[in-house]
Amino acid sequence: MNIHEYQGKQIMRDFGVSVPNGHVAYTVDEAVEAAEKLGTDVIVVKAQIHAGGRGNAGGVKIAKNLDDVRTYASELLGSTLVTHQTGSEGKEVKRLLIEEGCDIQSEYYIGLVMDRATSRVTMMASEEGGTEIEEVAEKSPEKIFKEVIDPVTGLTPFQARRLAFNINIPKESLSKAVKFMLGLYDVFVKKDCSIAEINPLVTTGDNQVLALDSKLNFDDNALFRQKDVAELRDLDEEDPKEVEASKYDLSYIALDGNIGCMVNGAGLAMATMDTIKYYGGEPANFLDVGGGATTEKVTEAFKIILSDESVKGIFVNIFGGIMKCDVIAEGVVEATKQIGLTLPLVVRLEGTNVADGKKILDESGLNITSADSMADGAQKIVDFVK
Ligand code: ADP
Ligand code: MG
Repeated sequence: MNIHEYQGKQIMRDFGVSVPNGHVAYTVDEAVEAAEKLGTDVIVVKAQIHAGGRGNAGGVKIAKNLDDVRTYASELLGSTLVTHQTGSEGKEVKRLLIEEGCDIQSEYYIGLVMDRATSRVTMMASEEGGTEIEEVAEKSPEKIFKEVIDPVTGLTPFQARRLAFNINIPKESLSKAVKFMLGLYDVFVKKDCSIAEINPLVTTGDNQVLALDSKLNFDDNALFRQKDVAELRDLDEEDPKEVEASKYDLSYIALDGNIGCMVNGAGLAMATMDTIKYYGGEPANFLDVGGGATTEKVTEAFKIILSDESVKGIFVNIFGGIMKCDVIAEGVVEATKQIGLTLPLVVRLEGTNVADGKKILDESGLNITSADSMADGAQKIVDFVK
């Protein structure tokens, strides 16, 4: 799960990690009020969307007085911001962070991730802050330093100091940078983060070390014990189809193609998408209906697939292991009737009670094409949508 920058900064503040003062604003008046409260000479007005690259897209404005704040807040609120992370449709700005302006001396990058190769939390740092870290990784990988963290000791002060040295934090700010890194690691572990990215971390004219940006991602599987984090979820920022799917425990991810896929099991879903692509088609989604798909679940899955207007055909690929093929077939028939499906539908069933399942599909009188294998099904649906 993702949260907004201002929410991430509040969590960091709660853990004693230094961030600039700031307040969230939903309206222009609230923005001006927040700026008054801050009372600093320079105020930064920042669009709050779940995407980075706002600075280059005009989503971060520097205001010199309250009139500027009013102007920028009116411009940003309700506007659609298109950054390299939002896709071409962009994201509507509904919240702002009104923050004190900082006297930036240098910008750095700090990130914490779970490294799958070592199975350990790893802190990465670079003196190339403020730019895309992916670009740094490509062009000058020697400028990214890493510390692999032992879960028993946690990030040690020695490791933090070594990172701070490597990225050339000026010596006046060294101890503050170390404190920052230790605090950020504490946030990461205690709040069950999957990513914590501070880009930029800055040193200021008066030797402070501050997070000017904050991107915290949380492990969905841990949200049951992070209730306060779960409350920060902003459904406006998520794909409505994915939100609907999560209500029914369906793993759904929207993609760009036109073949809707309904599959049980994540591995089979991936293989199905690959096979569709192999035969020259493009999947419209990843959808894993899971092990216990009921008629209700299958119906909801169909509805979600169909709410995507680019879908021109559906491929159902189910392996009946725990689930029985006849139950799935009944679900598919029932859902097809309820929805009044007019698009081509190819169904491939395999496994327990497959003969009964195929019989149900054949005798339904509906326009369902059955397939003998994954490859056969993929070819058929690709031909249909062409
Ligand atoms: P994004 O990553 O979405 O572009 P950032 O929060 O990183 O947004 O802001 C972009 C740039 O704007 C930063 O690299 C920094 O130079 C500047 N900036 C952001 N917040 C402040 C602030 N409080 N004071 C001064 N400059 C800021
Ligand atoms: Mg940033």
